[in-house]
Amino acid sequence: MNYTSTRDTSIKVTSSQAIAKGISAEGGLFVPESLPAVTLDEIAALANADYISRAKNILGRFLTDFTAEELDSCVRGAYETGFSSEKVAPVETIAEGTHILELFKGPTCAFKDMALQILPRLLTVAAGKAAKGTEIVILVATSGDTGKAALEGFKDVPGTKILVFYPSDGVSPMQKLQMCTQEGNNVAVSAIKGNFDDAQSGVKRIFTDKAIAEKLAANGMAFSSANSINWGRLAPQIVYYFSAYCDLVADGKIACGDKINVCVPTGNFGNILAAYYAKMMGLPIEKLICASNSNSVLTEFLTTGTYNRNRQFYATISPSMDILISSNLERLLYLIAGSDKVKEWMSQLATEGKYTVDDETLAKIKASFAAGCCDDDTTKATINKVFTEKNYLCDTHTSVAVTVYEEYKKSTGDCTPTVIASTASPFKFSAAVLEAVEGKKSDLNEFDMVTKLAEVTGNECPAPLANLKDKKVRFEGCCEKSGMDDVVFNMLGI
Ligand SMILES: *Cc1c(COP(=O)(O)O)cnc(C)c1O
Repeated sequence: MNYTSTRDTSIKVTSSQAIAKGISAEGGLFVPESLPAVTLDEIAALANADYISRAKNILGRFLTDFTAEELDSCVRGAYETGFSSEKVAPVETIAEGTHILELFKGPTCAFKDMALQILPRLLTVAAGKAAKGTEIVILVATSGDTGKAALEGFKDVPGTKILVFYPSDGVSPMQKLQMCTQEGNNVAVSAIKGNFDDAQSGVKRIFTDKAIAEKLAANGMAFSSANSINWGRLAPQIVYYFSAYCDLVADGKIACGDKINVCVPTGNFGNILAAYYAKMMGLPIEKLICASNSNSVLTEFLTTGTYNRNRQFYATISPSMDILISSNLERLLYLIAGSDKVKEWMSQLATEGKYTVDDETLAKIKASFAAGCCDDDTTKATINKVFTEKNYLCDTHTSVAVTVYEEYKKSTGDCTPTVIASTASPFKFSAAVLEAVEGKKSDLNEFDMVTKLAEVTGNECPAPLANLKDKKVRFEGCCEKSGMDDVVFNMLGI
């Protein structure tokens, strides 16, 4: 299978090249030229298989220039021991027809692990084919979850180095501690004075600086990207939708061939796009319900056809969804409307901050997607309600999805069995979750809140978060925006 670009279909690259490059030179995203079909018989057979076999089966259809041995080693390395659930991504049923797909059983307790545990392995195999002998340097700007998940994924992976920048005042105390205590011989972390946009634009500038690229090349190194536009992050996310469906079949909750809906708490549109790919490949998904917090740019787009990033930005209690530009939406538009229109709309987005799709495109989008949003108070109310009524504790992001799903069900009467993606451990956002459960703000410090949340709810705090308290802080540096280049050179020793 070959890959092309959302903005130039004359481009043709292998899966290794798509993963090693990350983004196409003209600014488009790599997409498969066609989608592999999976039959119901094949799905029925996978229902009896474990996660590793399911992952090899689905990924093997996309990564056709990886050998079976290479794929086996990537998949096992990622999912065999690093997840606290044997099922990797288990499904919990909280009410008849309402199933929660838990994507937070990995080492950093957020769904980013599902992709970032395997991406470094795919990337080193891909680079071995596409750019032999070059050391890969990963630079990440993070607002929290991605940085830690990328550090854990790349930790001690031979042939790679990873450096993460985070805004000094833009991450939670727990997220900061997770990053600053990171272990591994090829990792570094630095705060930068500024906000997330400063960190991100600094990293983008370094990525595209010709002189820096030449300096790296002279030392046998090259930058690559671990962010969610890399195909190597998207493909592994398709797997867990097949896996969830297989689990429901294996547990007798649905029959193979029955339709399900999927509801996803959405930011950059990567997770829900993976579900759409699964649908296009033949997984019986009826509706994809896109859930947003107060940053409701996607709700507006999916219901009116106008994408407008010129709006107020809200810092919410579901911070991983505080996004105004959802990069992966471009891949959906490519599938539905083609590359000429993508080019036109993306250039309007760049110059005017908005675009409106034609009626035909909007109708096609609405045939598959529904959307809704909710504010922080409703998010907290739902955490409380689900805990009180179902004895299930969910995090703030998951709660947004549960809220939007309940509203969707009420307004449409659609009772199709539904899988709701749960994207983080509630202990990762203890302050907001504890406040929701107790009905009042707590003045405890972050760690005491974690302990209290465990006591109050009878849930156990995941070990990687509980153990943080005793970890040594390794990275305390904080640089100016103008000092980022030197941090990079120091870390690389060049
Ligand atoms: C990244 C993230 C999201 C958003 O996922 P996208 O693929 O960017 O839409 C939702 N919840 C959590 C906890 C996340 O870390």
